[in-house]
Amino acid sequence: MSDGGILKDTSRSTGRDALQKNVQAAIALSGAIRSTLGPKGLDKLLIDDEGRTLVTNDGVTVLETAKVEHPVAKMIIGASSVQDKIAKDGTTSTVIIASEMLRNAWELVVQGIHPAIIGRGFRLAEQHIVECLDDFAIPGDKKLFEKAAITALDGKGHVAMKETVSRLSLQAINIISQVNSKPDKSKIKIILQTGGVVEHSEVISGLVLAKKRIDLAMPKEIKNGSILLLDGGLERRSFSSSMKLNVSSPGVLDAFRNKERELLFDQVDQLKKLGVNVIACKEGIDDELKSELVKSGIQAFRRVAKGDLDILAKSCGAVLVNDVISATKSNIGSFSSSSNVSMNNLEHWVVKSDGTGATIIIRGSTVDVVGEVERCFDDALGVICQMFEDDRLLPGGGATYIALAKRLRRFAESIPGREQLAVEAYADALEVIVRVLAENGGLDPIQTLLSIVSEQTNNKSSKIGLNLNTGNPEDMVKSGIIEPVGVVRQAIVGATEASISILRIDDVLWAKQEPQMPDLPQN
Ligand code: ADP
Ligand code: MG
Repeated sequence: MSDGGILKDTSRSTGRDALQKNVQAAIALSGAIRSTLGPKGLDKLLIDDEGRTLVTNDGVTVLETAKVEHPVAKMIIGASSVQDKIAKDGTTSTVIIASEMLRNAWELVVQGIHPAIIGRGFRLAEQHIVECLDDFAIPGDKKLFEKAAITALDGKGHVAMKETVSRLSLQAINIISQVNSKPDKSKIKIILQTGGVVEHSEVISGLVLAKKRIDLAMPKEIKNGSILLLDGGLERRSFSSSMKLNVSSPGVLDAFRNKERELLFDQVDQLKKLGVNVIACKEGIDDELKSELVKSGIQAFRRVAKGDLDILAKSCGAVLVNDVISATKSNIGSFSSSSNVSMNNLEHWVVKSDGTGATIIIRGSTVDVVGEVERCFDDALGVICQMFEDDRLLPGGGATYIALAKRLRRFAESIPGREQLAVEAYADALEVIVRVLAENGGLDPIQTLLSIVSEQTNNKSSKIGLNLNTGNPEDMVKSGIIEPVGVVRQAIVGATEASISILRIDDVLWAKQEPQMPDLPQN
């Protein structure tokens, strides 16, 4: 039936045609990042609209920076972004697996199998392997956590840097983690310092801020006190420029000034009443108040960045307030010590509390180096937080994906319908990780895949994968190439979700010109 011209400004593709184009988009997308996978993956140079450059081998960074227009490609990028948010790693793998699933699904469609059946088969396969993951997982300990963090950083720099980052990240998370709760990585403050070497980076227990108290006569150190965090300042109110003050008699101006001063000092009285020992403000503190604060034995800090106030609030259990007068006891936080120490000839404020915070001081030769190390810390901290939540680990180097594919093929035999073919296609898709790892390492992908499959069978071990440091199939746990269960599980779930939703699309309506897509052979 004609659409009566309603869609005349819309280009439309339906059915198989739509699916083929969508699969092409997915393959083009994964083609853009497959060369970055694994420790031997190469880097990409990204240049943004303003000419800023970034060298990275992180899949999601590449995809999020590239201005991709295709809606299907955007769906896969979405899966990769979710992976980044939830698991902090495995972003490239998610995209590569999703596109391989779609490529294999397309082959089945060409053979006459309906996409809905393939979707059902994929769902069955996903449910089966998520259960299998529990069988392959090994319990982790602190030493293995460090190994897993190093694996997550593979391909991102030299060995000494990765070891330093992993060790310090674990140390920082140990400080902030409290029994029975997931570590909150935002309690870690990062300070960047250029001019040193990465190996001299350090972790300090407590929050360190490059701030000095506003008056040296204030106490240098206070133990077990209360802290108020002010999302404003202790200043006179600033009036708008259009304000008029009618001075009708000689005393009016003085009275006005006195009242203003009184209001200012009322704030210090309120601080005393609340029992506050330390105050940190986002804005300024009037110089007139200094002596009053010193007299009251209060330590005061001004112009503290909002981000730092937020970390302090979390660590000390305080609530940021807009003004002192309306502050209540419940807004006040506590600390075990608040001291001023000198580091590198610079005054620093160190706050320690029961809610604990930690500071990582990242050192590196140049701004670029420090920036790269900071990104590595971000990844390592994310992966370690994951492991504090679920401490189980899986063999890396493609070992787990191959073992899962084997299990799936056995499972497929038990399915009577056409879904069986979809489950097999899904199993084939999981093997793409080893193929790409080998390819990027300059090895023959098919040969590598076959030798790992046979080694796993001959040794009855699901731990054998590709060690790209030696180029041989090895026991990944012994080689220390391991990854958190959460990363692999999320990669599988995310890729399946994306591919199934793309398979369900049978009509694409474009309100604008379609972007160019590479050709996919029709088989
Ligand atoms: P992703 O964005 O998916 O995390 P990476 O480029 O970080 O992509 O590569 C991760 C993959 O590299 C994982 O499958 C991991 O097991 C594998 N890997 C890491 N180190 C090694 C190694 N030394 N040998 C083989 N594979 C490795
Ligand atoms: Mg990774």
